[in-house]
Amino acid sequence: MRALMMDTPLLISSQLRHGASMYGDQQIVSRTVEGPIHRYTYDDAYKRACRLANALCAYGIDQGDRVGTIAWNGFRHFEIYFAVSGSGAVCHTMNPRLSPGQLTYIINHAGDRLLFIDATFLPLVEAIADRLTAVEAIVVMADATHMPECALANLVCYEDFIGAHAEDYDWPVFDENTASSLCYTSGTTGEPKGVLYSHRSTVLHSLCIALPDVLHLGEHECVMPVVPMFHVNAWGIPYAAAMTGSKLVLPGPKLDGASLYELILAENVTVTAGVPTLWLGLLGHVKETGQDLGSLRRTLIGGAAVPEAMVTVFENDYGVEVRQGWGMTETSPVAALNRLKPTMSDAPEDARLRIKVKQGRSVFGVEMEIRDATGKRLPHDGTAFGELFARGPWIASHYFGNAESAALDWFPTGDIATIDADGYMHITDRAKDLIKSGGEWIGSLELENLATNHPDVQQAAVIAVPHPKWDERPLLLIVARPGTAPARQEILDHIALHVPKWWLPDDVVTVESLPLGATGKVLKTELRHQYRDHRLPGN
Ligand code: AMP
Repeated sequence: MRALMMDTPLLISSQLRHGASMYGDQQIVSRTVEGPIHRYTYDDAYKRACRLANALCAYGIDQGDRVGTIAWNGFRHFEIYFAVSGSGAVCHTMNPRLSPGQLTYIINHAGDRLLFIDATFLPLVEAIADRLTAVEAIVVMADATHMPECALANLVCYEDFIGAHAEDYDWPVFDENTASSLCYTSGTTGEPKGVLYSHRSTVLHSLCIALPDVLHLGEHECVMPVVPMFHVNAWGIPYAAAMTGSKLVLPGPKLDGASLYELILAENVTVTAGVPTLWLGLLGHVKETGQDLGSLRRTLIGGAAVPEAMVTVFENDYGVEVRQGWGMTETSPVAALNRLKPTMSDAPEDARLRIKVKQGRSVFGVEMEIRDATGKRLPHDGTAFGELFARGPWIASHYFGNAESAALDWFPTGDIATIDADGYMHITDRAKDLIKSGGEWIGSLELENLATNHPDVQQAAVIAVPHPKWDERPLLLIVARPGTAPARQEILDHIALHVPKWWLPDDVVTVESLPLGATGKVLKTELRHQYRDHRLPGN
């Protein structure tokens, strides 16, 4: 029997519309790229998102067209999120830290027709502009007085673009499975892959992250996503904030400890979210200055493992609850969240810490399991470990441009984990061949290829070694060609020609040979184990 309820689609436009009509005077505060703080309300944001949606239609952006952004967390980026997706186009956010080659590939692969960029990223775009195959115009997210000098003919000022368009807009109603946004992630092999979110997945994910045991969002909260809006939609916070009427603080380009602290205090931030590296800066700042963390009550930390010391400092010294989260670009991202069960709250500190450093339990909607190499499901006993698989309504079934491939019913995460009897998942290793530095990926394969291009390098392996600030940094191990002794700096100079500076290995070690597995592949797990205490220069 079919139910007799309305079939109202879950659409992103409804989130901002609700935010503006119910919490119209709630504030959105942004640190601009120009410096000053910008402050307005959900009502103002809604009107400007309507103007932008009208402008996009007038320009000729159709449903399904891709519109790229290269921008920090700020109010114009927030407007773009809702205007682009809400009007039926796809908001494609990009990481400005990618190399020019990677950015070119991603923009062309997505087929972006328009690019919205912060003025600071203009040199980046200028350098690749003649290689962009579908981009018609570049809209600089600034007003006329802050437009940079530039020779590009197709440059438009954001405020001119939205111009005098109407402050209301008839948001189209369409199937909730329509694509809403796109974010590329580094593949272990080959080129970056696009994850294409839907309105349905985004709205359901927003409902999930607003829950009390996740971010606990609502009109009485003030949330500051430090995680960038170019990284998995700032973990969904802009959508969830609009939907729940939380005050939203967008920190712009200044992510150092002092700048974050200033916003937390001035705006009475109660909830934050970001990768571990960023919190080191904030904790260092408050320790140095002897300050407290004001009204901050909880922080969602994910993207990389949360060090035990970070949990104790936040919780014991500052009374801020740490909630570790686990997810991926392909999982929207929130899939697991770590809060202690009520029965654990009286446990001794070390027992509680042992749980808190785990990645967490499945949130409603996501199922997780671990499997061995033959695909057999392993027990959830806290000991057996295998590759983590996940499934649910906000988990990718295909990559963008590859819809003909068989749909995945379980997503293989490339993380190796245990799951205990209470459901707490703990990542113990990573099967995928990548290094995560400060929350951003570095491709080991690309570095290895570049190293072996050097005439004196016979074999190369790049592994992640633990780093106190960046969580992981790349270490390059090389086997030299017989009769040669390549110098460390020479190899690094050779690699530096092709990758962003922050990708450069922190150290180069020459070895006699590399350990190989049965299939002739370098045993990275063994190398990671062997070099886990390797002291990188400067540490
Ligand atoms: P990304 O797609 O860039 O968001 O990266 C996702 C990957 O980051 C996961 O597959 C993990 O390898 C890693 N990751 C995310 N959250 C955590 C966490 N809490 N602890 C350890 N690794 C994490």
